Amino acid sequence: MNDDWITRDALIIVKAYPNPSSKYFETVCVAAITAEEGWVRLYPINFRSLPEEQRFTKYQIVRLRMKKHETDRRPESYRVDENSIELKGEVSSAHNWRERWQWTRPTIGPSMCDMVTQQKESGKSLACIRPRVVEGIEVEDGETEWSDKKKSVLDQLTLFDPADKTKLEKIPFIFRYKYLCENPACKGHCQSIIDWELSEFYRRVRDQGLDREGIIAAVRTRFLGDLCGPTKDTHFFVGNHSQYPASFMILGVFWPPRTAQTDLF
Ligand SMILES: [Zn+2]
Repeated sequence: MNDDWITRDALIIVKAYPNPSSKYFETVCVAAITAEEGWVRLYPINFRSLPEEQRFTKYQIVRLRMKKHETDRRPESYRVDENSIELKGEVSSAHNWRERWQWTRPTIGPSMCDMVTQQKESGKSLACIRPRVVEGIEVEDGETEWSDKKKSVLDQLTLFDPADKTKLEKIPFIFRYKYLCENPACKGHCQSIIDWELSEFYRRVRDQGLDREGIIAAVRTRFLGDLCGPTKDTHFFVGNHSQYPASFMILGVFWPPRTAQTDLF
């Protein structure tokens, strides 16, 4: 039964930055919402090898065939029939928060603290949570190069696809959101941000010639000042690590204006 392919309309919520993997080559982990299953994790998807007409964006509705992932036991994980990917409408205009809310609202909760304590029992590995207070963004210098193992995967990729000149880049920083969740007893969370948008933002400001401090300041202005500002009803999309289920990362940020949500009631 679990091997059955099913066809779904899924709203793409996050694309996590690709990671060279010897098993799947360069793949993307996508988190999406379906009306039937709620959160789904779709992988592997060889996004950069998808033809243009199948390259979905964030907040795009995609029709696809999927089936339960046979090796990843997390309940939300599905394998995708890449050939079936068909782009539908986009819910991506800046004024479309209301429609995004309609998809996102049923997936909210519980608090991050509760997610962690309930994880073993629930197996839940994807969620939308609301930070009570975002305290800051911490920065750690990461590796500037891929490990040798990952580099060899990338080299093989280039062999397979010599037309692809855009070499996948390693972002030399690890950014983490430090925040308190809605649980009143929360002692704080510090979770790495693996949102593709942050990587793209990094490349954009780096290409403007900013130095390390300038890049970090720009990231904080955007991801703290703008996305978590007082006029925003900020939520985080979180997902866990398959090997460390109690360890969650921030896959994306949802930042509707504060009024959009209250309008719905
Ligand atoms: Zn907490």
